[in-house]
Parts: sequence; C-alpha cells; structure tokens
Amino acid sequence: MARVYNFSAGPAVLPLEALQEAQADLVDYKGSGMSVMEMSHRGKEYDAIHNEAIANSKELLGLNDDYALLFLQGGASMQFAMIPLNFLGENQTADYINAGSWGAKAIKEGRLVGNVNVAADCQKDIPTRMPDLDEYRWTDGAAYAHITTNETISGAQMKIIPPINAPVIADMSSDILSRPLDYTQFDMFYAGAQKNLGPSGLALIAIKKELATSGNVGLPSMLKYQSHIDANSLFNTPPCFGIYMLCLTTRYLKAKGMESVIAENKDKAAMIYNTLDASEFYRGTVRVENRSDMNITFRLPSADLEELFISQASDAGMKQLKGHRSVGGIRASIYNAFPKAGVECLVEFMKDFERRNG
Ligand code: PMP
Repeated sequence: MARVYNFSAGPAVLPLEALQEAQADLVDYKGSGMSVMEMSHRGKEYDAIHNEAIANSKELLGLNDDYALLFLQGGASMQFAMIPLNFLGENQTADYINAGSWGAKAIKEGRLVGNVNVAADCQKDIPTRMPDLDEYRWTDGAAYAHITTNETISGAQMKIIPPINAPVIADMSSDILSRPLDYTQFDMFYAGAQKNLGPSGLALIAIKKELATSGNVGLPSMLKYQSHIDANSLFNTPPCFGIYMLCLTTRYLKAKGMESVIAENKDKAAMIYNTLDASEFYRGTVRVENRSDMNITFRLPSADLEELFISQASDAGMKQLKGHRSVGGIRASIYNAFPKAGVECLVEFMKDFERRNG
C-alpha cells in the first residue's frame, strides 16, 4: 500500500484507522450482511452509528443539551443560505466579517436574503490577516453576527473570538476540533466535514435550541433548522455513509485525546512556520499573529520556482501542495489526521529545495 502525504485542503486526509475500519465493514457491516450504504436509515445498526456520531461530536466539542447537533447535506455552503433564511428577518441587519473568500461567499448569500452589514473588512489586505479587535463595527440589535474562524484559502485564522453582543454564528469548516476553544461561546457553528471530520457533502452543525426556535417561520421544511432538530437529523434520508465515516473519525479523536491532537497540531504547524522564518527564500503570506495551524500558505521567489517545487514535491510523495487557484503559491493543509512524519518530510524537502535553488 502506498499512501502519499496528502496536503489537500479538502477533501483531505482521513485517519488511516478510520479508512481501514470502513474498508473492513464495507461489504458486511459487523455481520449484518449489508454495507452501511445499503441499510435502512431507520434500522437498529444505522441508528447506533447515527447516535454515536452525534454523542461523540457533542462530547469532543464540550456541548450540553442546550445545543442540538445536526448532520445536514449541502456542505458548508448550504449553511451560507440557511443561516439568513432562518435568522435574518425583514427589518433586521446581520453583521458579517469579511476576511477572506469564504466570509465573502457567506456575505453574498446573506445579501440575497436580507440586510447585511460588513462589520470588519480586511479581505484585500496583504499580508492576509483577520481584523484587529478595534476594527469591528457591530450593529446594535443585529439579528446575528457571522464569523469565519479560519480562512482556508488564505491561511488566516481568528485567534481571538471578539466579544459580540448578538448571537454568534461561526463557520469553522477548516479548524473545528483542531485547537483549544470554548465552543459554548457560539450560539451556532458549522463545518463542512471534509477537513477534520469525514467526507465531503456533509456538514456538522451545532446550534443552540433556543436560537433555532426563534427562527423565521414559513420556510420550506428542509431549509428550517427546527425540522432537523425535531427529527434528530433524520427528517429525510441522511448521508449515512458520511455520518458513519464521521463516527469513525470522532472515535479516533476520542481515543487519541483532544489534548494530544491539539498539541500535535501546534507542533506540526510550528515546524513549517519555523522553516519559513529561518529562510529568505520562502515567504509566509499571512500576518504572523493570524497564521493558521491548519492551512499554511507561502510563496517562493517566482512562479516558475513554485511550479518546480510542487512538481518535485509530488515526485517525492507529497501531493496537493498547490495553493488555491485564486491565489497561487503553496498551501500545505495539515488537518488533524495529517501525520507528523509528513510534515518532517516537507520541512526536509523545503530545506533541500532551497539549497538547490536558493
Ligand atoms: N467555509 C470554509 C471556511 C471552507 O473552507 C469551505 C470549503 N473549503 C466552505 C465553507 C465550503 O464548504 P463546502 O464545499 O462543503 O460547501
């Protein structure tokens, strides 16, 4: 078996243990004679998977029963639409932070539904960054405030969640369960699963039940959080296989322990940032205070050298290091399941590449 070091920003590397267990279960789930993909979502085998995935997620996130934990389809992008549809009323304003491409997409969808105030805007700044605490201009009585805690494309991470006087809704697609955080400071948060949780197409949503009941009425049922809360994410046929994979991934996180996952994430990111900082050849693209531990972005002296770097890294078994098509450069995404040995390999390669081309 030849597993590469996969630096993809998502869909991204999953824990090998989870993939191997899924492989073993694929045609005959625990002696049921059926695959998880073939069994009823109302049957007892799937029911156990579904409820374990919810319980594991709530436990890892430190959430009590004030929160509902949902698994919905449509990825994180569906949340860009569902949030304003549910919570932005006619004479209300919602605050949004624009610090990168994903925040900007959320804003665009919000504006299709209602009145949006951009409470801080640093999307175009170079180096890329998150707003400083004194830059936020919140609306009094806002319906909610939407933040993106980690901008996956630029690699900027919100290290300090600002104090906000409105329900706080966070897109945590690329840093959920990756760093020490009190998740109860959010009224709602969500994440596309394909980075730290499982396969794509599935989104994890945690929402205060109280917030959900305050939502707009008159929406189609599938677009209403309350429908999914009432049905425990079984309002319609859920993405069973994705939820099963998320169940295995959360089991892996529990077994490893969040403390050790978080410590390893810090270590992995520091190894790459230290390499950038020790070099005149590589240039990090994010303001130091906002460097993400999940998506590490940097440039080389020229586009030609970047192309050579990506192609030689690929030959050496390090894949998907190309930066997002909108920004270029290099992006190393090192989510929870990315092995430390892969970071060591990248750092060695970076030093060697600099020696040969610097
Ligand atoms: N928000 C962030 C921060 C993301 O990184 C992504 C995907 N890369 C999305 C939203 C959109 O997720 P999806 O493709 O699952 O809709």
